[in-house]
Amino acid sequence: MDLLEFQGKQLFARHGLKVSLGRAVKSVEDAVRAANEIGYPVVVKAQVLIGGRGKAGGVKLAADEAQAREHAGDILGMDIRGHTVRTLWIERASEIEKEYYAAVLLDRSAKRPLVMFSVEGGVEIEQVAEQNPEKLVREHVDPLVGLSRERALQIASRGGADADVVQAVAGALLALYEVWTEEDATLAEINPLIVTAPAPGASDGREVRALDAKVSLDGNALFRHPDNQALADSENEDPIERRAAEQGVQYVKLDGDIGILGNGAGLVMSTLDVVAQAGGSPANFLDAGGGSDAEKIEQAVQLILANSAVKAVLFNIFGGITRCDEVARGLIAAFAAIKPTVPFVVRLDGTNDVVGRELLREAALPNVYPAQTMNEAAEKVVALAAGRGAGAPP
Ligand code: GDP
Ligand code: MN
Repeated sequence: MDLLEFQGKQLFARHGLKVSLGRAVKSVEDAVRAANEIGYPVVVKAQVLIGGRGKAGGVKLAADEAQAREHAGDILGMDIRGHTVRTLWIERASEIEKEYYAAVLLDRSAKRPLVMFSVEGGVEIEQVAEQNPEKLVREHVDPLVGLSRERALQIASRGGADADVVQAVAGALLALYEVWTEEDATLAEINPLIVTAPAPGASDGREVRALDAKVSLDGNALFRHPDNQALADSENEDPIERRAAEQGVQYVKLDGDIGILGNGAGLVMSTLDVVAQAGGSPANFLDAGGGSDAEKIEQAVQLILANSAVKAVLFNIFGGITRCDEVARGLIAAFAAIKPTVPFVVRLDGTNDVVGRELLREAALPNVYPAQTMNEAAEKVVALAAGRGAGAPP
């Protein structure tokens, strides 16, 4: 689950990372009110789940109320590479002297968290990694030991942080590592991590602060963080995916026109492959899990059909503990309630499959085509989606 910048900053602040004062708003009037309260200059920032907002014109400095109004009006509703701006973050502008980069992420191949730091922040970090790899410090951390202050200090100074802010950068790295572990994040990135200009006349020196935040949380660990569940940005989510998540069903939207429904993630994934091999294009991926009762099947069928792009559905069940005759009964009951208008190819294999197929045949549901093997089912569903009919009945 990806978080918007301001949500990421809320998590940062919870773990002691310095961020600027700001407010999230959804209208021009609220933006102006927030800017007046915060005090000028402010930065008006588009909140969308995509980077490069600055270049796209989604980050603008406002020196006074008139500019705040103008920028808020321009940015709200703007399209940034397919993402419509519905929320703005108004924050007190910072005086930037340096732009650094810091991140903690999961390195799957090393099976460890990876801490990264560079003094070449502000730009695309991939560019730094390619052109000046020596400017990007990469250190794996043993998750059982954690990141020590000594190690964080080494990373900061080896990366070339200015001497007067090495301590502060190390502190930021430690806080970022804490965000990553304690919030069950898969990515916690700050670009830029800025060094501010010292306040005029102030005795305390320069400050290190997160000016941007990119945080992805592990969806499978969200149950451990009730506070973070509320952060799910429903306005950016696919409504059917959200409904599925609420019902505890694995559903992924794809771009094709064949609905795929099965029991077990592995089976559903191989069904996608077989359908693709038969020349079809899956519209979605739905893992109904182990259940076979009518209510669960009805729910799954309704989710599949909620996507109007679906022209035909492949219902693929492998009976292990789940019994195919029960699935068939569930399907018959579900169809009595829903009466789908698109064709369903139903492949039942495994425990009690003969009985299950017999039940389906007896029920003679309109629009249901039983199949025995996965290949046969895939070919049938591809033909049906293309409007060619399912061929000769078995
Ligand atoms: P991104 O383009 O989506 O990565 O958005 P960022 O939040 O990183 O902002 C882009 C750029 O805008 C930053 O690299 C800064 O150069 C600039 N910027 C953002 N906030 C401020 C600010 O408070 N003061 C100044 N002077 N520049 C800012
Ligand atoms: Mn950025």
